Amino acid sequence: MKQYDVLILGSGFAGLTVAIHLNKAGISNYALLEREEKPGGTWQVNHYPGAAVDVLSSLYSLSFEPYPWTERYAKQAEILAYTNHIIDKHSLRDKCETQADIENITFDEEKNRWHVRTRDGREYSAKAVVNSVGHLSQPSIPHIKGADTFAGKSFHTARWDHNYSLDGKRVAVIGTGASSIQVVPAIADHVGQLHVMQRSPHWIIPRHDRPLNRFERFCQSVTPLRLLNRAWVYSINELRVLGLQYFPSAMRLFSNGVAMKHLRAQVPDNNLRKQLIPSYVIGCKRILISDDYYPALQKPNVVLETAGIDHINERGIVDSDGKQIELDLIVYATGFHAFSNRQCVPFDVVGREGRTLMDYWNDTAQAYAGTTVPYFPNLFFTNGPNTSIGHTSAIYMAESQMGYIINAVKQLITKSNVARIEIKEEAYNEYNKAIHAASKKSVWETGNCSSWYQNQSGINTGVYPGFSFNFRRAANHYDPDKHLVSST
Ligand code: NAP
Repeated sequence: MKQYDVLILGSGFAGLTVAIHLNKAGISNYALLEREEKPGGTWQVNHYPGAAVDVLSSLYSLSFEPYPWTERYAKQAEILAYTNHIIDKHSLRDKCETQADIENITFDEEKNRWHVRTRDGREYSAKAVVNSVGHLSQPSIPHIKGADTFAGKSFHTARWDHNYSLDGKRVAVIGTGASSIQVVPAIADHVGQLHVMQRSPHWIIPRHDRPLNRFERFCQSVTPLRLLNRAWVYSINELRVLGLQYFPSAMRLFSNGVAMKHLRAQVPDNNLRKQLIPSYVIGCKRILISDDYYPALQKPNVVLETAGIDHINERGIVDSDGKQIELDLIVYATGFHAFSNRQCVPFDVVGREGRTLMDYWNDTAQAYAGTTVPYFPNLFFTNGPNTSIGHTSAIYMAESQMGYIINAVKQLITKSNVARIEIKEEAYNEYNKAIHAASKKSVWETGNCSSWYQNQSGINTGVYPGFSFNFRRAANHYDPDKHLVSST
């Protein structure tokens, strides 16, 4: 069994950030366990046609790792190149154990160590574990009657098979969320027929994407200008919280203004436009940005299917009106198992007193500062429950947690009288009471939608309900008084 001080589960941006901060803290006895063949996380896995980020690249990057971005919104290949640049610059490739698909992690109360086991039988032990697998890493494929009888090809957007030629094929894309609105325009010109299976329309605003001009690229290379630009982008994005969290009713002005104007400008046909108007308050689901989705829907070989899916058969999809849609390929752009359901952590987690994480959460995933959970000592989450954010960068949120995680881990490793650090239940409850009280007023709970931000009872387990700098204040330090710290 391999022994480490720290095991980082996952090697996406968050896991890499933890590793870099461990290096800075002088902690070197750690490894990153990665399920995939290569490190890199989301942008290693999500290479579907059209994949790109929808936060400006200047903000969607590590604060301390500049990069000569070429576009306002970087595409998957450029973000993956950035990820690899970080991995190599910080010599993290050798720290990654790939194809390590974790089956379970168990806290050994006698040894005060986590025991980690992969599905292929590899075993590890560590004083501390940082779970950085991400909450958008488990593809969610809905159970549609007859799906297993389909004679054609099917895959999820996060499992795109580029060996499958789209040329001339009859394709259905199920779902109209962030992934779908990127895939649809990217493949529309390559396929024979494209059916976009919409269960509910989403609000879309303009993207205004373009390559960065020479002046913008120059600014990126001058540190004070880069930081100024980053602060500007961050601040403008943060203003959206006023509507999303504090004045959800004002969000209607935003939908009537920006989003409806975009829809009217891009979709002249009345009937089609009506089918694309969402019934929920903008912001309740993640606000999508696209300049080419609506135009793609109007291509002669593209059909927006709104009748709903009744079942799938050997030939394709049968809609609720009984129409048979003949297909060669079904693409599931149906999202991920986020903190809204029990599959959010893709392995068993057994903590103190034999408690399992899923039983402790009992359908409502929570954490103190999105990071720690009682009964699970020496276990830390990056981007844990209630840390998602639609208006700014998920990387900002992960970086915000480093003060807490690294300081606590340092205590465990350097102090002989610190064997366990566990968040006190009262601190956890108090933090989450405030999160849930704030969520009740927010657009995510009042906006009349269901999304991956909410669990089945409509409770927000996904989004941080407030300004991201307030999250940073809560998550950037380790307060021993809020923890049970023990030497045995
Ligand atoms: P998503 O936003 O959860 O969208 C899933 C879509 O599948 C929705 O349209 C949903 O319909 C539909 N769906 C689910 N089950 C269905 C069923 N049984 N029948 C018909 N339709 C069904 O998933 P996603 O698009 O993969 O995006 C997830 C998150 O990943 C995003 O919110 C974002 O945070 C991240 N992401 C980011 C980017 C980016 O940065 N550019 C790109 C992709 C993803 P309903 O709306 O009716 O539920």
